[in-house]
Amino acid sequence: MSDYPQSPSQEQRSPKAQCSARGCRAAAGWVLVWNNPKLHQSDYEKRWLACDDHRGSLSGFLGLRGFLRRVEQLPPDQLPGRTAPK
Ligand SMILES: [Zn+2]
Repeated sequence: MSDYPQSPSQEQRSPKAQCSARGCRAAAGWVLVWNNPKLHQSDYEKRWLACDDHRGSLSGFLGLRGFLRRVEQLPPDQLPGRTAPK
């Protein structure tokens, strides 16, 4: 009963969703969707990931500048980076 193959390791899977705050390595639970109209077209949406601790500060940073569009909860099974770039 020892010839059962090892399940493949999960190395090199898509990078773990990690908080975008500087120096923070916590797992992200939130997606901050924002757009800087001076840099981005209006249909472009930039995404930052945030952990619980940084959701407030990052969204405040973006909100002060009028960049923040919405905050979405990141489903645990939905890692970012899956959408194909245009
Ligand atoms: Zn964080």
